[in-house]
Amino acid sequence: MDLGLKGKVALVTGSSSGIGRAIALCLAEEGANIIVTGRDKARVSSVAKEAKARGVGVLTVLADLTIAEDIKKMVAAAIGKFGRIDILVNNAGTSLIRDPLLLPDDEFRYETELMLFAVVRTCSEVSPYMRKAGWGRIINISSIYAKQIGGLPDYDAIKAAVNMYTKDLAIYLAKDNILVNAVCPGPIRTPLWEAPGGGGDQLGKTMGMSGKKAMEWVAKQHIPLGHFGLPEDIANMVTFLASDKAKFITGQAINVDGGMVKAVI
Ligand code: NAD
Repeated sequence: MDLGLKGKVALVTGSSSGIGRAIALCLAEEGANIIVTGRDKARVSSVAKEAKARGVGVLTVLADLTIAEDIKKMVAAAIGKFGRIDILVNNAGTSLIRDPLLLPDDEFRYETELMLFAVVRTCSEVSPYMRKAGWGRIINISSIYAKQIGGLPDYDAIKAAVNMYTKDLAIYLAKDNILVNAVCPGPIRTPLWEAPGGGGDQLGKTMGMSGKKAMEWVAKQHIPLGHFGLPEDIANMVTFLASDKAKFITGQAINVDGGMVKAVI
């Protein structure tokens, strides 16, 4: 199936790792040029090398997305190299497991800057170029915890805000042929969960078991398909939404979760 992505230009935030890396490589596989972004030079370069091996144009940009100026510079660099951005995937994120009642303001502010304000700011920077082109795809990586409890209150609140922002922006930009959707992953095997001290270890600590055992428990107790998803499972959905095949889909928040969300919306 030709997804019509050859020669398009895609900016994927947080593409140095996990889900973002898989999205960047999946879009590159379909022939899209890629802007790889992150904060770690070695990891950004390594993903860029993998994308280039797929025969597409690649730009690397180091950016801390909690800094508004970095977002402006990232978009300007992309426009400087490719002249346009057709696909924007807002993926960068984090999750810290700790007592929500003891959450310091500065940590909540950091999470909000990264997972909400950076989404808003990047959409605002990129949309004018999509408007001019009369075509665009914005895909925000949210979470199933935007829809049902299970994460932490701060994370869940931020992701719920992302879903509502996605819906509103989709209506606002529909007349410009810019489609805006969110993808809501269930638990996915990435460094967020698997890195030493990551989600698995942090959860394991609260349960008195290893991170690996805690992840097996989550899969057994909460995921009907019985296992975590892979970054590629999210990348495949994002790549479809970025394509011409998804031209009548906008304002949706689509679960990719092994059946974990219990509601029908
Ligand atoms: P990851 O830790 O593997 O990757 C996170 C990416 O975000 C990295 O590239 C990192 O450099 C980037 N990032 C973090 N802070 C940044 C900052 N200040 N500035 C710029 N970039 C920054 O995590 P992941 O699991 O691939 O998560 C990607 C997205 O998916 C996040 O938005 C996360 O909330 C969401 N998500 C993940 C899961 C899961 O189970 N892994 C489930 C639901 C939603």
